[in-house]
Amino acid sequence: MSIDRITKFTGPCRCGKGTIKIYHCTPDHGWSDADLFKHEFVLKCRICEKDFEIQKQGRDFVYVSKNDIACRQTLKAQADARSMTLLNSAKVQTIRSNIILYLNSQRTKAAIHNILTTAHLGRGTYQTFLKHWKGAQAWAEYEFFIGNLEAIMKLLGSTDLTILIEIRAIESLNKNADVPPLPVGHPIYTL
Ligand SMILES: [Zn+2]
Repeated sequence: MSIDRITKFTGPCRCGKGTIKIYHCTPDHGWSDADLFKHEFVLKCRICEKDFEIQKQGRDFVYVSKNDIACRQTLKAQADARSMTLLNSAKVQTIRSNIILYLNSQRTKAAIHNILTTAHLGRGTYQTFLKHWKGAQAWAEYEFFIGNLEAIMKLLGSTDLTILIEIRAIESLNKNADVPPLPVGHPIYTL
């Protein structure tokens, strides 16, 4: 399988000393699966490269600042570090032990499935659950993370405000990290 590459746009970069090219790439077998249609963009300019990247945002190809991208990466790193600290804290480790004890204390797997589903901690049918369930300890390895922590606390009747506030702070950092960088100037090209 090869790829057809059609040049959709060629033009000068922001400073005018280099070029931008945008390509539309499709596999040559002609399947009309939208996911197979891709764009490639090349910014060739030593000056612009230092400060900008090209991104596709919706139907627009835009410049975004590398500094802006770096800020988001910093926010993400902060969120990850704080998540790790919170998960490893004594209070949260106690919650982890308690949820394992609580699930293990259930008389039937059906009861565990029901508890997890009601608390939005489980997905899928009982049959699927049975196929994958390897005990509460194994469950915690995969399911005890920040995104599930509040639901787990609720299940245990824990209302520790300092933990909840930290969860919110981490969520907020992640949310800000996920905001697409603001386009700089007008779109270079619109589909
Ligand atoms: Zn340039």
